[in-house]
Amino acid sequence: MTKDRQSADGQNAPVFQPGTRVAVRLPLPLTDAYDYRVPAGLTLAAGDFVRVPLGPRRMAGVVWGPGTGDVPDAKMKEILGRLDAPPMTAEAMAFVDWVAEYTLNPPGAVLRMALSVPEALEPPKPLTAYRPADPRPEIKMTPARSRVLDAAADGPPRQAAELARAAGVTPAVVTGLAKVGGLTACPIPAFPPPPAPDLDRPGPDLSAEQAAAADSLSAAVTEGFSVQVLEGVPGSGKTEVYLQAVAEAVARGRQVLVLLPEIALSAQWLERFQARFGGEPALWHSEVTQAQKRETWRHVALGQADVVVGARSALFLPFRDLGLIIIDEEHDGSFKQEEGVVYNARDMAVVRARMGRIPVVLVSATPSLETQANVDRGRYVHLHLPARHGGADLPDVDLVNMTKSPPQRGQWLSPPLREAVTQTLERGEQALLFLNRRGYAPLTLCRTCGHRLQCPQCTAWLVEHRLLGRLQCHHCGYQMAPPPACPECGTEDSLVPCGPGVERLEEEVRALYPDARIAMATSDNLYNQRTAREFVHRIEAHEVDLIIGTQIVAKGYHFPLLTLVGVVDADLGLSGGDLRAAERTYQLLYQVAGRAGRAERPGRVLIQTFMPEHPVMDAILKGDRAAFLAAESKGREDARMPPYGRLVGVVVSGTDEAAVDAGARALGRAAPKGADIQVLGPAPAPLAMIRGRHRRRLLLKAGRGTAVQPLVRAWITRAQVPKKVRVQIDVDPYSFM
Ligand code: ADP
Ligand code: ZN
Repeated sequence: MTKDRQSADGQNAPVFQPGTRVAVRLPLPLTDAYDYRVPAGLTLAAGDFVRVPLGPRRMAGVVWGPGTGDVPDAKMKEILGRLDAPPMTAEAMAFVDWVAEYTLNPPGAVLRMALSVPEALEPPKPLTAYRPADPRPEIKMTPARSRVLDAAADGPPRQAAELARAAGVTPAVVTGLAKVGGLTACPIPAFPPPPAPDLDRPGPDLSAEQAAAADSLSAAVTEGFSVQVLEGVPGSGKTEVYLQAVAEAVARGRQVLVLLPEIALSAQWLERFQARFGGEPALWHSEVTQAQKRETWRHVALGQADVVVGARSALFLPFRDLGLIIIDEEHDGSFKQEEGVVYNARDMAVVRARMGRIPVVLVSATPSLETQANVDRGRYVHLHLPARHGGADLPDVDLVNMTKSPPQRGQWLSPPLREAVTQTLERGEQALLFLNRRGYAPLTLCRTCGHRLQCPQCTAWLVEHRLLGRLQCHHCGYQMAPPPACPECGTEDSLVPCGPGVERLEEEVRALYPDARIAMATSDNLYNQRTAREFVHRIEAHEVDLIIGTQIVAKGYHFPLLTLVGVVDADLGLSGGDLRAAERTYQLLYQVAGRAGRAERPGRVLIQTFMPEHPVMDAILKGDRAAFLAAESKGREDARMPPYGRLVGVVVSGTDEAAVDAGARALGRAAPKGADIQVLGPAPAPLAMIRGRHRRRLLLKAGRGTAVQPLVRAWITRAQVPKKVRVQIDVDPYSFM
């Protein structure tokens, strides 16, 4: 190590000369970085991407710092070369280490999320495009060739196939013309960077309250780390307000990250963005192809993408100069990644912002209790948009007591809800029936012997999907054709569906309203951006009268003609009874209710429940969020549950049930003790088996100020769980299944 070199984020990274040792971190679940020798002719700095040998393989890694000396000189391998990608910033490296430490994962596993497209570390091969040769050579002309030259003269260089299409000839004519010199080949990027947002377009005229919030967000862009919570009822203009801050950050030359849940369904969001800024942002979510991701990764690293909109994993993109993070629907559970490195993207985004000394904005109509507690403690700034834009009234909410007004036998819609749907359709308006259950029926049982059809690999009922003619497990994807006879007692025609799913509800609705045009909205038919966009356009064009949907329609949509929302089973989310059951049900019901009456027409919401006295139903009915929050917070505080206490979930799993039990018991015996510490379990997980793996749970509960990571690390080491048993740690768990 000799002199220093400026890294991309202006920090001084040490430079390593040929012959010295460096530690290289690999995107593998490894705790340590390995030592390699810098080869002759190469100087490296921390953050550089390099290719190294690993056993028989070669792989990409990152120079993490000076070598540790743990490999003897004789055994040390040489780095093969530096990769042609912008080095990782010191900030990004520190973030990887921080997330690893917090979530108790090996740093290499976290680095793997930052290197999710290793191909991006090499510059992409450009495509060949053609433009007319200049000067034009003497060549034999044909009508087809002149058509190609005419087409090529008009517009940017294009690929052979595209040019041929424009000229109405075969691609061979184009390549033939290039061969004789009539066209000049020139490279173009396969995926050009997204267009820079057009900042000169005027945004909407903001109301005084909106403007005040927008000013606060915009001012923060130059003021270092801050967390602001933008709370407002659906339709109050939160999106318009934060787009102002996006414009401000981009105007200052910085990059912006917007995280959204279920990005694939944000077709309307993208159209809004496009309307505001004249082009699409860079996108990052599971639907984006690997080829496109490779380009986007580089655009982000090279600072060619100003705004990235993505799902949680976008947080690990290699921003060159991130200046603002927006978390829309911050309360949403989908920011929690439950597989692999278990982390909460909302919480980690706050950490990322602190490390980068930039602002983060948490946006929601129903901020999480965690966020609310941080507001109460004075750590987050609270901005509030109290009213719907344009003064549209919030919908009237009524509860339907299902004990008093039950539906007919074998049906799911109560008389009051049926009546309301009829009236809505008569007025030529749209209605949404919300039931958060895919498929036809959640359970199939034998009328003769009571046997229930269960997944052979999971502790779960098989869900009938009648449209597909299958029984499906929603946990592992196992499927089978419905059997003609009960597999237990052999009686034919004895299996009956129990309970409703959206498909069964549709059957009822079709019989009740034979003339209504019905659209389903579930992840089974809205599975990508295209299908979601088509759905939105059909609703907007009033080609649909009645929507039957799961939680997929609860978020973000804005349909002016939709004036009735019927919640078919509001109690569904309360039954599991986990820590956040009430909070989540409140958020979901509130959000679904917010779909009604978003424009001039008043909206109405009918909520079917068997528990009209439940605090959640009461709060929704009275529109009294404050009372609900107060009661819910008090309950959590009394029980010392988050956000007033800390939890760490530990799941022990494996295919050998005895070994899993032994491992779980070993963890139970080795459990940490202390005044403020309690370990619950081991106990069979509610999903005691998934994909053939047996599962046991333990839960560590500690005081809010407890640093749980060192405790848990020592605990796991002490317990010496057998190798064939997996121990998954979940700091700040959301799932208790
Ligand atoms: P939220 O994000 O809080 O649900 P939106 O930002 O989506 O609210 O706003 C709801 C609707 O009202 C959108 O169609 C939006 O374009 C419109 N809107 C909000 N504020 C204004 C404004 N100041 N001027 C014009 N239209 C607005
Ligand atoms: Zn299963």
